[in-house]
Amino acid sequence: MIVILSPQASKSDIDEVTANLKERGYGVHVSQGVEKTIVGVIGAHDDEKLLVAEQLSSLAYVERVVPILKPFKVVSHEFHPDKTIVKVNGVDIGGQKVIVMAGPCSVESEEQTIEVARAVKAAGASILRGGAFKPSTSPYSFHGLGEDALKMLAAARELTGMPIITEVMDTRDVELVCKYADILQIGTRNMANYSLLTEVGNARKPVMLKRGMASTIEEWLQAAEYIANQGNYDIILCERGIRTFETYTRNTFDVSAIPTVLGLSHLPIIADPSHGTGRHALVPPVAKAAVAAGADGLMIEVHPQPEKALKDGAQSLTPNNFDQMMKDISAVARAVGRYI
Ligand code: PEP
Ligand code: MN
Repeated sequence: MIVILSPQASKSDIDEVTANLKERGYGVHVSQGVEKTIVGVIGAHDDEKLLVAEQLSSLAYVERVVPILKPFKVVSHEFHPDKTIVKVNGVDIGGQKVIVMAGPCSVESEEQTIEVARAVKAAGASILRGGAFKPSTSPYSFHGLGEDALKMLAAARELTGMPIITEVMDTRDVELVCKYADILQIGTRNMANYSLLTEVGNARKPVMLKRGMASTIEEWLQAAEYIANQGNYDIILCERGIRTFETYTRNTFDVSAIPTVLGLSHLPIIADPSHGTGRHALVPPVAKAAVAAGADGLMIEVHPQPEKALKDGAQSLTPNNFDQMMKDISAVARAVGRYI
């Protein structure tokens, strides 16, 4: 349920209505927009909503009380009509600029990480990606260099000034990853790991939540709600493709999820055409489609020698191909009123 206050509502009106709601045992989330203040109410049962709505509507400074019927509330558009901009060390995700996160699938060595970091920065990327803890369908494939990789990412940040994003797979590693990372990535296989979502919700770091490979948009937004419910609203969503009957591509990139999410939620959304397609030749065209559809950013895998990559070589761009893609995307961004 949301309580929309009239533009004249004062600070003491806001305090009064929030105290009233807290007394009833509800969670309260105040969102101060440019024109209006919206008070989000969590935990009201359906059978109470009508009565509470009637009672609150009697207050002079309450404009309207609207029930939210969606299964996600805090991350919904109704709760927070202004778009959320996630700020990461001087980089704004969700604003006019399309933010590009790029780097290797896995951190393999300090040289490789620094080489890619310098190349993607020169091409216009704002954030460095790199896996230290790698989820893998096969127990026999590379699982990442762990803390050593986190140190290599930190060294690359030191040299280039780029913030770093890396995946955390386990609640036991959240503290360690927070020591190094600027953004915590939750991978597709963990989208529905509710204890991990709660843990990163308690961490005071932005979180990028990838869509589960077999999850609906509604399930994905409910997963984001788990993070937000802990008080961490710095959430970025990432469409990375879903499982379909198609086997030519690694996943089926769901471009329609981008405008859908932008309509349902105030959170920024970025696109990962690398995992979305699994084929390097398909990455630039799908990246263009994502930007045209309104994506706030991209996550792209880049490797200096994809043919030697320990993981995801087939979908990795070379630094040259990445540079070309950035140029092509810049024209698309301009066409939709954004820039790179
Ligand atoms: C990754 O970003 O390297 C990764 C493992 O992604 P996903 O969770 O989307 O498979
Ligand atoms: Mn990968």
